[in-house]
Amino acid sequence: MDVISKIDVIREQLNTYRKAGKKIGLVPTMGYFHQGHLSLMEIARQKCDVVVTSLFVNPTQFAPGEDFETYPKNLTRDQELAKNQGVDILFVPTEKLLYPEPFFTYVISEKLSKVLCGNKRTNHFRGVTTIVAKLFNIVQPDIAVFGQKDYQQAIIIQKMVEDLNFPIEIIVAPIVREKDGLAMSSRNTYLTKEQRKQAPVIFKALSRAQELFQSGETNAKIIHALINETIKSSSLAKIEYIEIVNAKNLKKDLNIIPGTFVAVAVYYGKTRLIDNLRFE
Ligand code: AMP
Repeated sequence: MDVISKIDVIREQLNTYRKAGKKIGLVPTMGYFHQGHLSLMEIARQKCDVVVTSLFVNPTQFAPGEDFETYPKNLTRDQELAKNQGVDILFVPTEKLLYPEPFFTYVISEKLSKVLCGNKRTNHFRGVTTIVAKLFNIVQPDIAVFGQKDYQQAIIIQKMVEDLNFPIEIIVAPIVREKDGLAMSSRNTYLTKEQRKQAPVIFKALSRAQELFQSGETNAKIIHALINETIKSSSLAKIEYIEIVNAKNLKKDLNIIPGTFVAVAVYYGKTRLIDNLRFE
């Protein structure tokens, strides 16, 4: 596996692969890998000849006061995990390289970026779409793999690719969970022992909602109340939002049908956890 930090170097190497007719897959990440990240690399490995994983903690998607400074890092471990997963190129650019001063140009997704997580994290998705567009232009992959864990992000990127004509297939991979149901996240390491013990209540709430839907309940208000009540049974949980939305336009759905999504954001102390589920 090559570890590359320069844009011209990765471009040159990928050009050689491209000329040889190789299919290139990209997995954008912020590092501190867990099984969720590795599952995306695995999918890219199966579908492509060359797998590129980018590792960059993107400052423009963090608001002041969020965890940009403290975001967990372990490059040595990440390199080892990526290599074992069959990644060909680990792209680790610096902030200076991706955001040279002065930096004026951002990609903004209207509407979709204003709801759910975008409601409180004002410029978050502007940062996400900008960095992903930059990575797409640098790597020019044939496919890019994102996790359903960040469902809103995946939808916004799919729409950006459609609206801005990026010739890239977007694949959305299932959420990888811990044994007790907690969605894997680099941020889980922030949780105290007691918070970690309580956090699986989020998935428990989503699973109970799925069961209620499958038993015939389609009223979003009733299902919302069940999720709310279940999460509130965890004394340390503070709910930011529980939203039941249309899978494509993220507008609130009053009546649940197969394909409707429920998305939640819950704080444990300062740690913000997100999760979601597609009603089946
Ligand atoms: P991050 O490093 O948190 O920015 O995540 C990089 C990519 O991994 C994103 O596409 C996430 O949606 C995806 N991801 C994060 N956690 C999980 C998980 N538990 N299961 C599957 N994909 C995940």
